[in-house]
Amino acid sequence: MNQKNCLCLLLATFASMTATAAPYDIPAPVESAAKAQITAATLEAPIRFLASDALEGRGPATRGDALARLYLAAELQSLGYLPGGEKGGWEQTVDVVGVTAQLPAVWSFQGKSGAVDLKLGEDYIAGSGVQNPTAAFDGAGLVFVGYGIEAPEYKWDDYKGVDLKGKVLVMLNNDPDWDPKLFAGKTRLYYGRWTYKYEVAARHGAAGVIIVHTTPSAGYPWQVVQSSWGGEQFELPAEGEPRVQLKAWATEAASRRLVQAAGADLDKLVAAAKSRSFKPVPLALKTSIQVANKVSRVRTANVAGLLPGSDPKLKEEVVIYTAHHDHFGIGDPDSTGDNIYNGAEDNAAGCSQVLAIARAIAALPERPRRSVLMLFVAGEEQGLLGSKYYSLHPTIAPGKIAANINYDGGNYRGRTRDLTQLGAGKSSLDAIAKALVEKQGRVLVPDQFPDRGYFYRSDQFNFAKIGVPALYFDEGTDFIGKPAGWGRQQSEEWEEHVYHQPSDEIDDTWVFDGMIEDASIGFYVGWLVAQADAMPTWNAGDEFEATRKKALSAAK
Ligand SMILES: [Zn+2]
Repeated sequence: MNQKNCLCLLLATFASMTATAAPYDIPAPVESAAKAQITAATLEAPIRFLASDALEGRGPATRGDALARLYLAAELQSLGYLPGGEKGGWEQTVDVVGVTAQLPAVWSFQGKSGAVDLKLGEDYIAGSGVQNPTAAFDGAGLVFVGYGIEAPEYKWDDYKGVDLKGKVLVMLNNDPDWDPKLFAGKTRLYYGRWTYKYEVAARHGAAGVIIVHTTPSAGYPWQVVQSSWGGEQFELPAEGEPRVQLKAWATEAASRRLVQAAGADLDKLVAAAKSRSFKPVPLALKTSIQVANKVSRVRTANVAGLLPGSDPKLKEEVVIYTAHHDHFGIGDPDSTGDNIYNGAEDNAAGCSQVLAIARAIAALPERPRRSVLMLFVAGEEQGLLGSKYYSLHPTIAPGKIAANINYDGGNYRGRTRDLTQLGAGKSSLDAIAKALVEKQGRVLVPDQFPDRGYFYRSDQFNFAKIGVPALYFDEGTDFIGKPAGWGRQQSEEWEEHVYHQPSDEIDDTWVFDGMIEDASIGFYVGWLVAQADAMPTWNAGDEFEATRKKALSAAK
């Protein structure tokens, strides 16, 4: 090492020391605002109201939904927030379309060596891709497109410019997972989610998609696909975007039979798909289908309150906090006869944390430099619909949105030594969150099931999709004063007996010391982002980086 390099290194070390000391400091007035405003009482009260039987489970477009929205807007107004919705109001209307597809009991395919029939439920399941009375195609050819992925940042293109108009695309689930340098290895990126598969096929003008189901590639068994695609599917109204007619899944065994009838072999196709040089493989199969749809429409809304920033320039940019206000309303009774799906943890607890953060920000002696938008989104349980609508019709240009911090759920079991971060390793928000969690004497741990793609299954994903760096914390599992494994056992029991059931209610066993810490982290991260000179960034090469760059230059 020569003298010059040595000096540079020294200067760089000095710079990084001063740089790391300052940026994550939380000044005393900010800490006092958290202590005074994010309390057991401010967290518990909104949950007791939102999750009470009087709100009837807050099903979209019900009386309980309207009451919840009114309450959230009233709270924001009383805290000094300005209406952040449409036309100077507190709400952004979200229309929801329900489509029930009457699928044929048998779906037939004509191949080289005769016909193959797929039985509904046993072999295939599907949803309509369109919101018309009929979804149909006639004599469509089938093409195997591997993973069906187009990802310039990984130099991966399964389509290779082949014309696929009017075809039915057969594709594998998940994304390539055998190489840590490709699609983040075992972590499921958006490219590995079924929603992506249908979107990309529609962009290529395909008539339909059949995703080959395997339990490892989906992360859940066939029964889950069957039950979640069985009934009414909810979506936003079509706005002229490309759509496939049919969004289907087939079991691995059924896919094998199909491919065989075309004189091909599924294992060989799968092997070929594991390469960048893969090209779409036309299958000697044709199929027709006609699906009658029952289509309905209801109306709900996102609720938004804005607190303008104090910096004349930076106030054009905004930090957005989100929590979904909806749940399932009144439905089938459980074994005790309870039919109100109160959604106390999911997501009255998220709403109460965002409200408590809203209080803390409003109580600061000095407004943050950037503006802050509190956004309670609708229809999350029906497929992240409210946040999707916001992302398609943002009230602030995506390039002006500094970050999104989302709460879906909350810890009511006590303090933890850890906090789980979904989607860790993606943006510069990680470092801020990590430093703050460590200041609380805790550790930030990554998602324990990265292969399941949880980051893409709550509202922050719709912000990431328009390029906004986004954070979503999940509660920790290492509880103070409890034996090892207790937290995990609790969450497994919760998943089995409480999740999306009428028993998701608040009771006297709930404690708030853990939730206070988790909500305070969100407050501090948001405050730091609102104060910083520069906005957060995606890590280089991240799947959302290219979209962010476009959004930033569009907003200039
Ligand atoms: Zn939820």
